[in-house]
Amino acid sequence: MSVQELVLRQRTEILNALCSSGSAEHLEQVLDILLAQGELIWEDYQNIQVPGRALYTNGRQLLDLVYTKGLETCALFLAALKQVLPKVHGDGLTFSGCCSNLEEKEEYHSTSTQTLLTQRPSLVSKLQCCIDDALKALVISGDFTSAECDEVRLPMHTPSQQARRLLDHVRSKGESAAKVVLQYIQQKQESGSPLNQEKWTPPKEVFKYQKKLSSSVSAQSCFLSTYGGTSHMSLDDIYTKGELELAHNCVDVHGPLGLEDILGTVGTVNEEADTVLVSGDAGGGKSTLLQRLHLLWARGSALQDFLLLFPFSCRRLNSETRELSIQELLFQHCCWPDREQEEIFQFILDHPHLILFTFDGLDELKQSFSDEHRLCCPTQRAPVHIVLFNLIQGSLLKGVRKVVTSRPEAVGPVLKKHLRKEVLLKGFSPSGIDCFVRKHHSDPTVAAKVLESLQTNTALLGLCHSPVLCWIVSQCHKELLGCGEGSPQTITDVYLMILQHFFQHQTSPKSTTGLDWLQEHLKTVLHLGKLAFEGIGATCYIFSGPDLETCGVTEKDICMGFLIQSKNMSSTHSKCYEFLHVTMQCFFAALYIVLSNNTDRSTIPRLFEPQNMRETGLSSTCFMACMPSTDKQERALEGEATAAETPNLQITATFVSGLLSQRHRSLWIHCCPTAVMEKRVRQVSRCLSKGMQKHFKSIPQPVEGEKKSMHAMPGFVWLIKCIYEMQESRIAKCAMSKLEVDHLKLTYCNIGPVECTALAYVLQHLRNPVGLQLDNNSVGDVGVEQLLPCMHICNSLYLRNNNITDEGIRKLLAKGIQCDNFRKIALFNNKLTDACTQHFSHLLKTKQNFLSLRLGNNNITEEGAKQLAEGLKFNHSLQYLGLWGNKIGDAGTEALASALESSKSLVWLSLVGNGVGSAGACALANIIKNSTSLEELWLTDNCITRTGVECLIQALEHNTRVISIWLRNNDLSLEEIEEMTQRESRLTF
Ligand code: ADP
Repeated sequence: MSVQELVLRQRTEILNALCSSGSAEHLEQVLDILLAQGELIWEDYQNIQVPGRALYTNGRQLLDLVYTKGLETCALFLAALKQVLPKVHGDGLTFSGCCSNLEEKEEYHSTSTQTLLTQRPSLVSKLQCCIDDALKALVISGDFTSAECDEVRLPMHTPSQQARRLLDHVRSKGESAAKVVLQYIQQKQESGSPLNQEKWTPPKEVFKYQKKLSSSVSAQSCFLSTYGGTSHMSLDDIYTKGELELAHNCVDVHGPLGLEDILGTVGTVNEEADTVLVSGDAGGGKSTLLQRLHLLWARGSALQDFLLLFPFSCRRLNSETRELSIQELLFQHCCWPDREQEEIFQFILDHPHLILFTFDGLDELKQSFSDEHRLCCPTQRAPVHIVLFNLIQGSLLKGVRKVVTSRPEAVGPVLKKHLRKEVLLKGFSPSGIDCFVRKHHSDPTVAAKVLESLQTNTALLGLCHSPVLCWIVSQCHKELLGCGEGSPQTITDVYLMILQHFFQHQTSPKSTTGLDWLQEHLKTVLHLGKLAFEGIGATCYIFSGPDLETCGVTEKDICMGFLIQSKNMSSTHSKCYEFLHVTMQCFFAALYIVLSNNTDRSTIPRLFEPQNMRETGLSSTCFMACMPSTDKQERALEGEATAAETPNLQITATFVSGLLSQRHRSLWIHCCPTAVMEKRVRQVSRCLSKGMQKHFKSIPQPVEGEKKSMHAMPGFVWLIKCIYEMQESRIAKCAMSKLEVDHLKLTYCNIGPVECTALAYVLQHLRNPVGLQLDNNSVGDVGVEQLLPCMHICNSLYLRNNNITDEGIRKLLAKGIQCDNFRKIALFNNKLTDACTQHFSHLLKTKQNFLSLRLGNNNITEEGAKQLAEGLKFNHSLQYLGLWGNKIGDAGTEALASALESSKSLVWLSLVGNGVGSAGACALANIIKNSTSLEELWLTDNCITRTGVECLIQALEHNTRVISIWLRNNDLSLEEIEEMTQRESRLTF
């Protein structure tokens, strides 16, 4: 049979092999090879690679073209396929007669553009790990603009796709750009990677082991588990960048952090420590982020300073009941070396800096971190958690890098002591949500509809910052688009939506019995609910066959898709299962608490007071396999939920509140007696109101003369979220009626858009206006929009360091102008530019009771200052104006000074660090001359010279009101400073 016929006959198989994974990578690799071999010309390539078109269509187009091009092309095409397809995909195909000569063409190329084409496959692989640097080189050479760089770097593309986009762009730019890329690659090769620099190769056995390890890591990480039950989705296709931030402020960090920064030097707080913590909420994307790192490493695209990477899941380590040495832990849990185990382990001991461990979900480990039990000997056996804790603190295998993920609640001070740095994973940014939805839906019109419906429901949009919720919303797009008015508002609504979605997908239309969907599946809900509930009580997330049996879970229940088979559990067990996500387990536990006849009456009160959990024994007596018996006895004595359990209990309690909301009660009508339901609602309301009172009672009395202020204790935001889930304003009103504070401080409380929605819902019922301090959270523009309903009750709003842009400010001020109480705002360190100043200007003109405006450390220039001045001219109330750390300069200062010249209200003005020179200082002297209110003027860190200060001194001669003018760090000599201090004591240098 000719190769041409072979291509025709195997058309379906080839198409499936190329496209069935859903990833375009294989097809694109084949195209790279055919371009390089000259079998396709550039126009062919463009006809096949039509952006936005279905992958299968592109595949078919390629097959048609290859076939019509004849024998030789078909032979090369088969050879390319053979090279590109992983063995599993290529196994069923016949390649006989295919051309084996696919060597890169080495002959002389007349142009660099041509070289880019003939070396395309290897260039793609070389470029994908250094896209940013290659783009930098192109920007420096003037061949690329930053907008073009952004186009290449679109987060929806995988690194190899970004490399191809880069090459395609370069081609359209011509010879000079092509030369830059080739030179860049050459320089990079000459300087070599750190491994090459050592001019050293590891022993052969270690290399073999590395290959085995990386292929196993790659196989484990290429698909996302949440898609396991529904459709296969490769990580490459769906992975969307989450927002990463350092937990500790760091001056040398500009712009967002990337994956490489997790192990890079940036933000290191303890050079001695080896462990990096990635913390974030449940469903925030921690496991997925680790999975991405694993995949990139296994493919050679990132973390190439590490020769061996050992991934661990704490959830799986929970099931290890034996005592193990570190060697056994590595080899038995990650990858077994076929030979020379001792040599390989010795290599690990000798080269710790080449080894990386990752531990996913430290919060799911049954034992809380402690550094009491020291273990130093790598051959000594110990319980797995002890080995793990010693690795983290560095007493075992010092120098080996570790990345640990956890929810923040489970990270205590003892662990913090041993951290090299902490990185916070904040979920998706607004553009991340957009990108994820587009990746999730291959049909762009569906994606656009989903995004449109999210824009109209900002509460839901806020929820989508959490990747797991974004996934649910995308998964349930049909329900979402169909539900109009009743569109989901709360987290419970979203989980109910997926519950219904899964049930309806699994039920064939014939089986409908006239019952509503929940009634029809009540048994499944109760079986899975019991499993989830018992599991939460026992910190158990992986369930064996007998566990399922104990809870009555049947094969049919499993088929519904909420449980997935656990990867990597040792084959001595029968099949093991876990819930799609831990939040799903909490949701089922909540369903069980709400619907079951078998929970006792103290379950709800105990759930809302996790600290009493053990005392009263919510913890399960099932699941003997989950817990070693010694551990059980130990824990029974502890009398408290561990730090690791509390977050799950809190999530469960939040769902219980949501499920008992009036809005959902009709759902339960046929599933549970009304009287029981009502009793449970009363119980939850009582718990929430008691919880709130407890908080309020803990507020200390104010010192005389000061305002009564409350700093939120852990758990306050959670209670607020529970109240929001109930969606009953009566409860919110009742909870807030007893809060008597002037200032509510919620700094560093991990408040994102979701929390803002809940806060606004509850705080709007406060009786008296408060100052709301939300500094150092992740409110963002969406969060700001969520806060609008409680603006009327805020007299001051502190939103320092919250990722807010001009757009957020526009919405905030449009509402703020209408709120009589709203008088102060602090927005230090956000992302504001001149585009927001017109709104402030309007506010200042309109609101003649506005007192304080602080806009420090943003990006406001002379233009913005001029806009502000327009408003200030007409304002008679502003007392505090803070513009520290902007770029206002002399011209901006002059505009402000002229607007404030006759102000009778201004008390305090800061223009620290604004490039203000003497011209600006002289203009400010005019305010001093006239003002009867100004007390302090801050001009530190500017470039004022003697001339400017002379103006200020002269003005002060006519003014007795001003207390001090701060002039540290300006352009003055020591002698000048001495002389002028003597002339005017109110100047501080
Ligand atoms: P965590 O470990 O923080 O609880 P996961 O990583 O398990 O969160 O994320 C939950 C789900 O959210 C994933 O199964 C996936 O569907 C989705 N998801 C999370 N992060 C991403 C991401 N970066 N890109 C695409 N989807 C993501």
